[in-house]
Amino acid sequence: MSRYVLALDQGTTSSRALLFDHGGGVVAVDQYEFGQSFPEPGWVEHDPEEIWESQLRAARGVLEKAGVAVSDLVALGITNQRETTVVWERDSGRPIHPAIVWQSRQSMAICEVLRGRGLEDEVKRRTGLVIDAYFSGTKARFILDAVEGAQKRAEAGELCFGTVDSWLLYKLTEGRVHATEYSNASRTLLYNIHERKWDEFMLSALDIPAAMLPEVRDSSGEFGIASARWLGGEVPVAGIAGDQQAALFGQGCFESGQLKNTYGTGCFLLMNTGNEPATSESGLLTTLAWGLDGEVEYALEGSVFVAGAAVQWLRDGLGLIENAAESEAAARSVPDTGGVYLVPAFTGLGAPYWDERARGVLVGLTRGTGREHIVRAGLESIAFSSRDVVDAMVADAGLSLDSLRVDGGACENDFLMQFQADILGLTVERPEVLEVTAMGAAALAGLGVGFWRDRADLEASKGPLTRFEPSLGEDQRQSLYRDWLRAVERSREWAD
Ligand code: ADP
Repeated sequence: MSRYVLALDQGTTSSRALLFDHGGGVVAVDQYEFGQSFPEPGWVEHDPEEIWESQLRAARGVLEKAGVAVSDLVALGITNQRETTVVWERDSGRPIHPAIVWQSRQSMAICEVLRGRGLEDEVKRRTGLVIDAYFSGTKARFILDAVEGAQKRAEAGELCFGTVDSWLLYKLTEGRVHATEYSNASRTLLYNIHERKWDEFMLSALDIPAAMLPEVRDSSGEFGIASARWLGGEVPVAGIAGDQQAALFGQGCFESGQLKNTYGTGCFLLMNTGNEPATSESGLLTTLAWGLDGEVEYALEGSVFVAGAAVQWLRDGLGLIENAAESEAAARSVPDTGGVYLVPAFTGLGAPYWDERARGVLVGLTRGTGREHIVRAGLESIAFSSRDVVDAMVADAGLSLDSLRVDGGACENDFLMQFQADILGLTVERPEVLEVTAMGAAALAGLGVGFWRDRADLEASKGPLTRFEPSLGEDQRQSLYRDWLRAVERSREWAD
């Protein structure tokens, strides 16, 4: 009899459910979008009930599509949009406020207060994070301020705080379990990643009552039983991780120094740094990767704001290509960019520059510059920006690298992957099944119930990798990258 793991992938715009078999193959997928609300400029909210309902629908849908009975499920894993914050009533399960989404800027004023008190270093030392409205703690503060009587009720233990994983776990178990795990806890601004406990200093800085916090557990192991009411039979919830950490796990980056890059609208890079946290000198985040068998592993995290979005700009802003995939043929039609560099600093520059005033530049133009050169420069910018972050990670962690694992929509571009390998001087490895985030959740859940014995067993269940080997001479690599750094200089401190 075939047995499966069900992965729930609760994302920012849709809820997905995927079934994995023992060989790591995707048997079926189901997916439902849900509403986004923008009550004020810069604010983004979700209806927690809609998150749950769309997720449940996808879970039921995927079983139906695959014709798999709930009795054939060994376990269920959850991966989720990180940092998004829900507060609900412990008894009734009713949310007291819409979920505040990770992107939402509505707690900026609360961040200003923390900064005004000079807490930046303290926050970084305890949580590995920077003071920013992204993280859940200030969002929870916002909700407690916005809803009358909420602070008192939270202090009395009547309310639950949770990231989306906790919310789904609570719903799946019909209110029996209020828990989370290390990767999600480490995105709250409330968790001490070194001592591995809710941080009293941060709780008091934000006046968050401890009574509302979930219990923090290992990322793999039984969290609770999903009620038979939902899928027609009970299923153990046995693995949870936030989306980026799940992708790191799903990519099999189990050893320190292993890293992955997700090429989507932006790029998300995470490097496993093993049992020791690395402190960044370049504004990268230190985070918990996961906890397994009572031990935690740490990761360094950095992102590139504009990656696939640069390709969208070539398409929609300039009309140079009809669709994203066409960028590959255009780039290949010329031997190089003819000295052209695009620095897509449309919204400023992130790690390692952190320059809000930077703006995009296109430099090195000559009469010989054509559309293909500019498209190629756009793709190359994704690889150069990723190298900026990788170099910062290597410097911060003091680790050497042997390869880069890739996923995300734009990693299907072979030209880009080859150029990435060339400019890093590293092998780029692309898995056949690109559903690595859901696979990470499935893997944690499957390990939790012994469906896969250990990480080696998981690796064995992985399909073949497409490898891109660096083929550029060292001099050429250095000189291309040096000119990229010069182009970045031209983009700096431009806006008033
Ligand atoms: P997200 O999850 O951030 O929405 P996806 O992983 O779906 O992103 O990837 C979509 C992004 O990748 C878009 O910005 C798109 O421009 C880019 N993209 C998709 N396919 C290609 C391609 N073949 N070459 C270059 N960029 C691509």
